Order: sequence, then structure tokens, then C-alpha cells
Amino acid sequence: MDWRTEPYTSPTGVEQLQAYETFGHPIYLDPIMDGRIHWASTETSQEAAGHIEGALAAGVRAARRTLARASSP
Ligand SMILES: Cc1cc2nc3c(=O)[nH]c(=O)nc-3n(C[C@H](O)[C@H](O)[C@H](O)COP(=O)(O)OP(=O)(O)OC[C@H]3O[C@@H](n4cnc5c(N)ncnc54)[C@H](O)[C@@H]3O)c2cc1C
Repeated sequence: MDWRTEPYTSPTGVEQLQAYETFGHPIYLDPIMDGRIHWASTETSQEAAGHIEGALAAGVRAARRTLARASSP
């Protein structure tokens, strides 16, 4: 399947988007609500943000932090 031809996965003009400066911003490393909510999308990753590898890295980071919090007294 060519996802670029699908209107809901690749809207008109999306290929021209260049505003990626917030990808991997350090603010995403900080959980909110007293450490109970962690950010874990590819956009939050400081490596390969916007790609599958970034999503995996962000997921691992958030999972580790969540487990560390759960195991702390
Ligand atoms: C057309 C296209 C082609 C791509 N090609 C490539 C490629 O070739 N190589 C590559 O590395 N990357 C590619 N990517 C990028 C890659 O798909 C993404 O970087 C990756 O899927 C992001 O993963 P994620 O887990 O951060 O977010 P997502 O995969 O978007 O996952 C977010 C999930 O949250 C769910 N969700 C949203 N809102 C809510 C809610 N309120 N409550 C509960 N669940 C919710 C969504 O349903 C979704 O399942 C492509 C992306 C697109 C759109």
C-alpha cells in the first residue's frame, strides 16, 4: 500500500512541512503530574525523532522511568 496516497496518513502539503524544531525537546524528558505521566512518542525522542527508531527509544526510556518510579519507596 502506498500510504502517501492516503488522505488521512499523508494530508495535502505534509511533505512540505519543515517545522521539526520541537522534536526531541528536553521538556519532553520531564514527566508531569508528580511523575505519573511520561511522554513517549517519536516526537519526544532525542534520537531519530520522527522515525520508528525514535518511537522505540522513547518507549524504552518512558518504560524504564516508569518502572524505576514504581520500584522506588
Ligand atoms: C505515511 C507515513 C510513513 C512513514 N514511514 C516511515 C518510515 O519509512 N520509516 C520510519 O522510521 N518511520 C516512518 N514513519 C514514521 C513512523 O510511523 C512514526 O515515527 C511512528 O509510528 C511513531 O510512533 P509513535 O508510537 O510515536 O506514535 P504512533 O505510531 O502514532 O502511535 C500513537 C498511538 O496512540 C494512539 N492514540 C492517539 N490518541 C490516543 C488517545 N487519546 N487515547 C489512546 N490512544 C491514542 C494512536 O491510535 C496510536 O496507536 C512514517 C509515518 C507515516 C505517517
